[in-house]
Amino acid sequence: MDFIDVYYSPKQVSGPDSSSPSPRKPAWVVADWIAQEFCIGIVEPIPASLEQIALAHAPSYVEGILSCELMNGFRGFQKDVAASLPWTCGSLMSAARAALNNGLVACSPTSGFHHAGYESGCGFCTFNGLMVTAQTLKAEGKVSRVGILDCDQHYGDGTAEIMTVLGIDWIRHVSQEHWNPDDAKLFIETLPQVVRSFDDCDLLIYQAGADPHIHDPLGGFLTTEELAERDRIVFSVAKARGIPVVWNLAGGYQEPVARVLEIHRNTMAACVSMYLCSPG
Ligand SMILES: [Zn+2]
Repeated sequence: MDFIDVYYSPKQVSGPDSSSPSPRKPAWVVADWIAQEFCIGIVEPIPASLEQIALAHAPSYVEGILSCELMNGFRGFQKDVAASLPWTCGSLMSAARAALNNGLVACSPTSGFHHAGYESGCGFCTFNGLMVTAQTLKAEGKVSRVGILDCDQHYGDGTAEIMTVLGIDWIRHVSQEHWNPDDAKLFIETLPQVVRSFDDCDLLIYQAGADPHIHDPLGGFLTTEELAERDRIVFSVAKARGIPVVWNLAGGYQEPVARVLEIHRNTMAACVSMYLCSPG
């Protein structure tokens, strides 16, 4: 690999009036990664279709959100949010296809997925791109089993709900309820074993959330160095086990936002170091 593929389009950015920087974050992280001169390649994603999004959500909910008639995850009806959603889901899906194709890794600079349930959005999440991606690849026969390692500070309740509603048993979903959010040492010590538990998965979707940071207003229990160690463990174990990884950003609410960007920068640094500089 010469570059880490980053599936980014300005169309996946929106600007709702919100306490969350996440809908604006894709542009900021990509600009930061370019400024850092990371070996990344920016690739235009293919937006998710209504039909693909409806593999994980009630079709009436998908139509209502895209037409701005139903309330989105920001508790509003903003047109720019609706317009961005096929692109955020499409970014993760396109990056997942790239990871499957190269057998290693790809990045989607996206957030706002895991609280979105089958026919509802909340917590800055409207459509569950994690589930849209898994469902679409499964429907196409590209994957048999998918792993979701959700290392955001908060539980992926929307992901769990969609799995229950649709009776999905081929996704292994590991989220915040699987570890003690007060014990950083134990989290780091047991993480290699957690990543190895995805051995039978064709693809691992990794949410490299920045909000588990100890200074995050909605976090957190990990230092900046512990978050970087988390990323190194996920990438190194997955690479050693031959599990393709697609990763994204998820939450992060520190101010100024530069503190959040620093955490995502460290994730990209770990990714570059593991996949571009290591032999094998
Ligand atoms: Zn979160």
